[in-house]
Amino acid sequence: MKNHLSTCVLGSSSSGNSTAIWNDTTSILIDCGLGPVYIKEQLLELGLRMEDLDGVFLTHIHSDHVNEATVRNLHKHCIPMFCPSQIEPHLLKKYRSIADVKKEKFLNVINNSDIELDTLSIRAFEVPHDSDGGCFGYNVFGELAGKTKKISVSTDMAEVTASALEHIANSEVIVIESNYDEEMLERSGRPKWLKDRIRVGGHLSNNQCAESMLQILNRSQILPQMIALAHVSRQCNTNTLAYDCTFSAMEKHGMGETTVCETHPQKPSITMTIV
Ligand SMILES: [Zn+2]
Repeated sequence: MKNHLSTCVLGSSSSGNSTAIWNDTTSILIDCGLGPVYIKEQLLELGLRMEDLDGVFLTHIHSDHVNEATVRNLHKHCIPMFCPSQIEPHLLKKYRSIADVKKEKFLNVINNSDIELDTLSIRAFEVPHDSDGGCFGYNVFGELAGKTKKISVSTDMAEVTASALEHIANSEVIVIESNYDEEMLERSGRPKWLKDRIRVGGHLSNNQCAESMLQILNRSQILPQMIALAHVSRQCNTNTLAYDCTFSAMEKHGMGETTVCETHPQKPSITMTIV
């Protein structure tokens, strides 16, 4: 397809996250926390090939964002990986597959400047999700009909800082976490320490996601065309609860024209195409 900028969440849950962003010449992944066979198949469905990816950008070191078999596959195809400098030492310590090939310049470090990959430009911004070395969201910029369009992906946030709000504002497509329903988390059989870890430093609840979207949109000059609700907990949430919470808040504030999309653990989201 010519003259488009598209996003598809290939899969999103605590067992694996990866999002594809592409136009007619350039394709990237944000995170590679799903297996290589699955990612390959889903990319093919989108008309993309894993071996043609221009780069893979890591948000943080948790294992639902870095699949070692996929890392080896990416390396085999000479696909460069990128991560913010703060998380590099932690990645190398945790993942043998990355440390082994680091000397071949497979892993590239991002230092506060945008990465230009062919026709896409990628910017990292920090979010407070608790992970060694920190956690990052990404803005991806591409040109369409002479105008710059922005896609923002942040699947693990914990809370939404003023800086993250500014980075995500004015995006055409936003992938944001809506991890748990507060009542379902409370009623779950999970130990108190785990509940507390999810609430503080872990993830955004549906209500926090909805509130964050309102704050992001209040700072934006444009309404996003699409929002995808990601990292939806299978034990403490449902896609319906997540959708109802964010969509009803947006509709109430006159922002009901934005399409709110579901994501799934092992099934791709709809393709979100900016035209
Ligand atoms: Zn995480």
